Amino acid sequence: MSFSPPVMHNGQRLQKIEVPRELEGYLDGTLFLRGPIMDEAGGDPEKAWRALGGPGTGIGLIAPVQVHGTAILDEKRVLALPTRPRADGILLHKGQCAGSLRFADCFPLLLSSCHPHPWALMLHAGFEGTARGIVPRSIEFLENRVPGFRIEKTYAWIGPGIGSCCYQREKGRDAKTALGIRNLPASSWIDLGERVRFDIPKAIGLQLFSAGLPRDRLFEYGLCTSCNPDQLYSYRAGDLFARTLFLVRSGPAVHKFHPWWENI
Ligand SMILES: [Zn+2]
Repeated sequence: MSFSPPVMHNGQRLQKIEVPRELEGYLDGTLFLRGPIMDEAGGDPEKAWRALGGPGTGIGLIAPVQVHGTAILDEKRVLALPTRPRADGILLHKGQCAGSLRFADCFPLLLSSCHPHPWALMLHAGFEGTARGIVPRSIEFLENRVPGFRIEKTYAWIGPGIGSCCYQREKGRDAKTALGIRNLPASSWIDLGERVRFDIPKAIGLQLFSAGLPRDRLFEYGLCTSCNPDQLYSYRAGDLFARTLFLVRSGPAVHKFHPWWENI
């Protein structure tokens, strides 16, 4: 388990989450990486959803306006398009709606388990959200909203984002850099003098491990968005609008709907 090999569909690159056997039929995670459908959508989730044929599937699409914060939505039809709540996380446990988030350097993070019933939590975890504590906040959220939640029975996937190879920030007057230094694990950043090099996926992994996630249940995509512009969108490498779209469904109704991207 980890990530399946990438698939090309009419020139559009797709990356599926490889689902553990116990979650088969209860979880689908698909990343739409660089390709014509995402180019055309220009980062607009309604355009992307129409181009994918989403409105004809019977599934609602939850597509929050992302604000680099720590708010998490609970799967409800009333939160689906055309509504656009402000949030950076979505808990999915019915399968009637797909959750969606968009990325161009920030990290897609997926947590999922079938214990005590199938659920998935998808998160937009960039530098800012991670520095603000979206990972520990999401664990607290699960403890409150999923009775019987157990981190040691949870799987986690960190998708593509900007690697430490390409991520430095000004130290001096940038309050967000100071927030990162204060809140992120010390071994996830290096002080270079006037600049600081941050390793965001390392910070996410360390926060998950310190919460109790077993090391063999974390899967990392590992490719840097900025170093791989042929496959991935990167804001810092010049993609001002187009975004990677991450679609996730989880819960007992997953098998009732059959969108094409869940069957490849
Ligand atoms: Zn890089």
